[in-house]
Amino acid sequence: MNILIQKFGGTSLSTNEKREKVIEKIISAKNNGFLPVVVVSAIGRKGDPYSTDTLLSLIDRDTKGEEKDLIMCCGEIISSVVLSKALSLKNISSKVLTGGQAGIITNNNFGNADIIKVNPENILDTLSKGVIPIVTGFQGSTENNEFTTIGRGGSDTTATVLGEALKAHSIEIYTDVDGIMTADPKIVNEAKVIKNISYNEVYQLADHGAKVIHPEAVSYARKGNIPIYIKNASTNSKGTLISSEEIYIPNHPITGITHVPNRTQICIRLDKEYNNSNSIFDILKEKNISIDLINIFPMYKAFTVNDNFSDIVEEILKSKNYKFTLIKNCSKVSLIGNGMKGIPGIMAKILNSLDENNIEVLQTADSHMTIWCLIKNDDTNKAINILHEKFNL
Ligand code: ADP
Ligand code: MG
Repeated sequence: MNILIQKFGGTSLSTNEKREKVIEKIISAKNNGFLPVVVVSAIGRKGDPYSTDTLLSLIDRDTKGEEKDLIMCCGEIISSVVLSKALSLKNISSKVLTGGQAGIITNNNFGNADIIKVNPENILDTLSKGVIPIVTGFQGSTENNEFTTIGRGGSDTTATVLGEALKAHSIEIYTDVDGIMTADPKIVNEAKVIKNISYNEVYQLADHGAKVIHPEAVSYARKGNIPIYIKNASTNSKGTLISSEEIYIPNHPITGITHVPNRTQICIRLDKEYNNSNSIFDILKEKNISIDLINIFPMYKAFTVNDNFSDIVEEILKSKNYKFTLIKNCSKVSLIGNGMKGIPGIMAKILNSLDENNIEVLQTADSHMTIWCLIKNDDTNKAINILHEKFNL
């Protein structure tokens, strides 16, 4: 079967006019000989009537996980039924399937459930009748038929996990930009669409803040080697093709720049090398606080945590009499590119460019395809624009 997964994000479904565009994409897939399997997000964004955030605002904070997931599943159910109705007005028959009905089985970690298997029979059965399955994104079901949600950005994951399970020809993710870009176009006006990019680079971009696709979604497609196209739902632009092909452009070490805001940097100085100086990491682990940008020396340790945890970490360090400095409101800027492997001078170029513009770098780290710089939140947009220009993105 020539299956094409088509996922439509919340902004792409927010008005009748936009839903008409979505229907055009579905019809065009059919006309091109594909069997479309449609995945939808909840309509709109925060503040819009049926968005997930709006639904969540109707309940209080201590609502238990099962019930919270039930209300969080409503947004996708609403948008799928609205789309199905709009398709039927064009004499296209479709059938709404909840995550569970689509065969997405998860554990019972409500709010952030893990997918344990996919039983695609129901989708295949629907397709065999010439009916288009419209699957509610972001959700699954436990073996006991309880609704679960699979975490933020989860509709992207629904699309790719189905793509893998159904051995789809490809996965199209429709959103409000023309594809994966060299930087967030909301930050860099000159950001350009990247025509071809590897799973590995996109995974890095997504994992370090570019919300255009969810990192877990990239992993499923990579596992099944299913190509992903990121496209604009309201234009006919070609978009970005994500595949296993690693592309190297001469003299172009950086593919894209992204960032994660609101990090707190913690630097611990030790007067003497005491044996239990690593106990701070055990305590953070116990408290489920994840850390990154970790630099360890015998007498010095640095790392970052989300700003939400800075007060807790400060308390712990004080109670242990550590000497430390703590800087809140930092931003982790990531420069990502396959082409940086073995090319000398990239870090120097980054540091010089930032220094020339009086942007203080608090910490750096690097791996084979990513360089991270910790700077202040307030410097982020300026830094990304400068680096975007310096590296000719
Ligand atoms: P959807 O509702 O369709 O899932 P998202 O808001 O999750 O849409 O993702 C699209 C947004 O991702 C864009 O509006 C854009 O501002 C942002 N974005 C961040 N980094 C990038 C990037 N490198 N390329 C494209 N878009 C990006
Ligand atoms: Mg999204």
